[in-house]
Order: sequence, then C-alpha cells, then structure tokens
Amino acid sequence: MLIQVNHEVLNSQLDLTGITSYVILQFDKDDSFTGASLSLGNTLGSFSLISQARSYLILPFDSTFPLASLEGFYLASDDSDDENSEEEGGDELCPVCGGINNAGAMVFSCSHILALLWEGEFQWTEPEFDEIITLTDEISSLFQENEALEEEETGLYSMFSPYSYNRTNAIFELFGESLLTGNPRHEDTYLSSGSGSLLYILDFKVLEEVLEKLRNFKIEVLNRLNRET
Ligand SMILES: [Zn+2]
Repeated sequence: MLIQVNHEVLNSQLDLTGITSYVILQFDKDDSFTGASLSLGNTLGSFSLISQARSYLILPFDSTFPLASLEGFYLASDDSDDENSEEEGGDELCPVCGGINNAGAMVFSCSHILALLWEGEFQWTEPEFDEIITLTDEISSLFQENEALEEEETGLYSMFSPYSYNRTNAIFELFGESLLTGNPRHEDTYLSSGSGSLLYILDFKVLEEVLEKLRNFKIEVLNRLNRET
C-alpha cells in the first residue's frame, strides 16, 4: 500500500496499530529512499510512526527483501517536478509491491509493469494491454473512415474524434489514476537515444474494465454503422 503525504506540515504521524508483520519504507519529497521501519511485534500494543517522509510504501514483511541495500533507490512515482529521479539507469521500487525494477538493466521483479512508454509510444506491452492498444487503433480507424460518427460528442465518441484523437492520451484517460508512470529515464548512446519510463498498473480490475469498455464500444460503433448503411 502506498501512502503519499500532500499536506505542508513537516511531520506526519501514522497510526499503524494492529498491522504486523510489515515493513514501512519511507521516501522524501524527491522519492528518494530515506529509511525503513519494521512492525514485527504482536498486534496488541499500539504502534505509530512520526516521520518527515512524504511517501510511505507498506509491504508485508519478507525476510528476503533487500532492506539493507535500498540506499539510492527511488520510488517509482509520477511526480514530475522531481529532478533527482532523472538519474540514468536507476533502480526503482514498484509502488504496489515494492519490487525492484530497472528498465536500463532489464531487471523486472514484479508483475505490475504493463509497458515501457518510450518517446510517447508503448513498447514491451503485456498481452491484455496489447489488446487495448489494438482496440483503440481499430476504433480510431472506424472513426476516420466514417464521418457520421463525429456527430456524437459525448464520452468515448469525443475521445475518438479524428480531430483530437491521440492514442497515448486516450489510453491514459481511460485508465485514470490506475496507470502510473515510473521514474523518467534518458538514454543517449550511439544505439539509441530518447526518454521514457515504465508504466505500472495499480489495480488489475481497471485493466479488465477498460478492456471490456473498449470491446463493447467497438460493438456499439459497428452496430451503429450497420444501421446507417
Ligand atoms: Zn509490483
């Protein structure tokens, strides 16, 4: 579970009474790892934490988790006012499970990565995410070929309007808060140059919902076109 502090007060107090066995990772305003606390005792006593951290990632305690080597790690977070995280090739922690991922070193230790967003395009996509991309492309083609569809100006109809449609923007809009871009990564070698970041899904239920919504919308659009011809 990820808790992000938005208030201006320096310290926050988290009442963590009753949660055990958990590890609480703390990050500063630049999403840089600052420390960890453990809650391993019994559930009867009260337990709270006072800290200046701006983000807390609470994970079930796992003795194999590399607590001792987290220094220099960043939390994957899309706060883009964040200069420090633009270091190249850095490890980042998944905001859902704390898994350590590194797009540069091709190290992926968790299942919450949907794709790499590189120069505004989706790459290395997961099968279900791939289907979402295919569906948006198919629906967008239908809109480009059939002017009649532009008359409707609400909901998905306006999203797919050929005048304003942009695939990447449309997909981010469909997922809302459930899609999170990780830390920006820049590359400038003779092999490749550009910038991008990993894409994380915070809730797989939303992936299913978006897929279902697009499947249904495609059927609706096709039915409508059939009626008109
Ligand atoms: Zn994860």
